Amino acid sequence: MRRFTDEYWMRFALAEAQKAFEEDEVPVGAVVISDNKIIGQGHNQIEKLRDPTAHAEIIALTAASNYLNSWRLNNATMYVTLEPCIMCTGALILARIKKLVFGAFDPKFGACGSVYNIPMDNKLNHKFEVKTGVLAEESKLLLREFFEKKRKKNNR
Ligand SMILES: [Zn+2]
Repeated sequence: MRRFTDEYWMRFALAEAQKAFEEDEVPVGAVVISDNKIIGQGHNQIEKLRDPTAHAEIIALTAASNYLNSWRLNNATMYVTLEPCIMCTGALILARIKKLVFGAFDPKFGACGSVYNIPMDNKLNHKFEVKTGVLAEESKLLLREFFEKKRKKNNR
């Protein structure tokens, strides 16, 4: 059987982030993988949906749960281009996710090592494995491009 690498799956998350970029949303993308298959995907849509909870991870988790017809994703791995925030980390715990792989760290909102490190908190009864830095440069570049574009627009 073909062995899929973390980089392989992160490319799909980056493609989702690119969709967000094109829709003028902060470019973050996520996919959920189970049994070597994408079972959920999403990109940030907070502007379009006018919903502060419409983060890539939440949309991907909901899609994966719909696909499996279960809220329990204990055999699944999430790939997301940016470190999840407090809300999304909470959702990953509630979904009993097995593993999280993310790209860039988010020093402002990150809850998996930056501002907080919730997955490592012993007070919670579910933990998941975390891998960081996968295609981080690509993810950061897209975010940088987005905010530069925004700044230029605002200065016009
Ligand atoms: Zn989030």
